Amino acid sequence: MQNALVLSLLILLSVSCNKENKDYYQKNGKIKNVIFVIGDGMGPQQLSMLQLFAKHSQEEHFKNRVTNLEKLMAAGSLSTVMTNPGKNLVVDSSCSATQYSTGEYSLPEVVGLDHHGEVSKTILELAKEKGLKTGLVSDTRITHATPASFASHNTSRNDENEIAREMLEVGPDIMLSGGLRHFLPQNSTNDTELRGLIPSHISLKSKRKDDINLLEVASNKNYQLAFDKKSLEKTEKGKILGLFENSAMPDGIWHTQNKSKTDRVIPTLKEMASVALKNLEDSENGFFLMIEPGQIDWAGHRNDTGLLLHEMLRADELFGLLHEWMKGREDTLLVVTADHETGGFGFSYSGYDVLKPVKVTGEKFKGEDYRSNYNYGDFSTLDKIYKQSRSTQQLMSDVQKWPKEKQTIANMKEHFESHMQYSFSDKDIKKLMRSSKNEFYRPDHKNLKLKEVPHIEDFAAFYTYGNITRSNIFARVLGHKQSAVWATASHTSTPVTMITVGPKSLTQEFNGLLHSTEVGRKTIKALGLKKEYKTIIK
Ligand code: MG
Ligand code: ZN
Repeated sequence: MQNALVLSLLILLSVSCNKENKDYYQKNGKIKNVIFVIGDGMGPQQLSMLQLFAKHSQEEHFKNRVTNLEKLMAAGSLSTVMTNPGKNLVVDSSCSATQYSTGEYSLPEVVGLDHHGEVSKTILELAKEKGLKTGLVSDTRITHATPASFASHNTSRNDENEIAREMLEVGPDIMLSGGLRHFLPQNSTNDTELRGLIPSHISLKSKRKDDINLLEVASNKNYQLAFDKKSLEKTEKGKILGLFENSAMPDGIWHTQNKSKTDRVIPTLKEMASVALKNLEDSENGFFLMIEPGQIDWAGHRNDTGLLLHEMLRADELFGLLHEWMKGREDTLLVVTADHETGGFGFSYSGYDVLKPVKVTGEKFKGEDYRSNYNYGDFSTLDKIYKQSRSTQQLMSDVQKWPKEKQTIANMKEHFESHMQYSFSDKDIKKLMRSSKNEFYRPDHKNLKLKEVPHIEDFAAFYTYGNITRSNIFARVLGHKQSAVWATASHTSTPVTMITVGPKSLTQEFNGLLHSTEVGRKTIKALGLKKEYKTIIK
């Protein structure tokens, strides 16, 4: 009897406690804001590189060696996401972003369409219809696959001129990235009026094939225009179109080298995200904001190990801003995920330069040195990778710009060694410069139309970006010294890690092994938005 009384008291107590402890999501049945981060190409191995560097580089690059990535992980829940298209094994960025943005299976290389080819409303469009404010931020181009897949619908991700036009029609309140070339009318290069408006660090070369001036269209739709850091900082509450480069924004190595410079004219990813959040945060009906650290993928495509580290460092700065911003907030769901892994990257053990025997103090080793059969990678490698001061693609394009007589083995060695912590042999340089017949030649194909291509010894079918592939050979030449391997110049099917931060009752709905379409549907539902889906997720 007494036990029953205690039990019922306990139940009463827990019921009333639950009532008081109800979180924002339980109380309202929806969340007010969503921040959706897509690290392009940010697979688990890319995360592990950041963590290893933070913990074990010789210098302490992070306060107490704690990354913002792990702070977010500690603050939220973790899940794993499959990203494949409905009918394929591997995904590209537009299909993956579309599956997140629409909750429907999509097709490779299409934007905002389901896998039947029908227009599918994105979370950004649904949010806008319900009076939420919306924004897109990327360190690539605003018309590039990932941001495009939230605010346009097109049969091809490459149709960036049309994507630019449609994005303005859909009209996210905030759009910050590169990609001016798709907004300028053709033949803008010497236009004095445009030159007066756009600072000199940005080329006015247009990609458009018509006279449509999308900057004018944007102004007429009440967008404030920003082309550099200063003008972005001066923007007021309201719509902003910020285009800070002709094409892509600068890479992660540039970011590391320039982020502290006071005269820097191009805003960083973190700065763009910060302006977006300040602008959207007091929106009465809430907001949806997608932010993309987009060039992790590009480092992956080029198998550029040094650049990859700097891209991850740039992404971690964004994570720091978001971690701070989320503190004490109950009304927001933060999702940090990736669209796929790029490059099949990993640190790997090898037979190269097997580490010398060392003394260890353990009982079992009494009188004996410890020796391993393989080289498991030395932490000092991380510092060497960090010190790479130019991307392999830029190193190669430097050489290609030299006059023929300058393109000697000695000059190349000197150039590469001045930007990387490794010495190059004659054999290495020859390997870097070797070409061979393109086995996959197709005259009508954007990237396969070269008859001769940089020579890749194995898995050549996965190295299909023409001359850019030359930069990938650095990974082959340096891999054993960096304890790093790359499997492909394209994407892999590796499931990606997802972090959700927000009310516990909501983040627990994201637990487990999910498909990207499910993440899309759950996020749409979390904002209290309604959508009818056509397909059943397998
Ligand atoms: Mg992208
Ligand atoms: Zn990619």
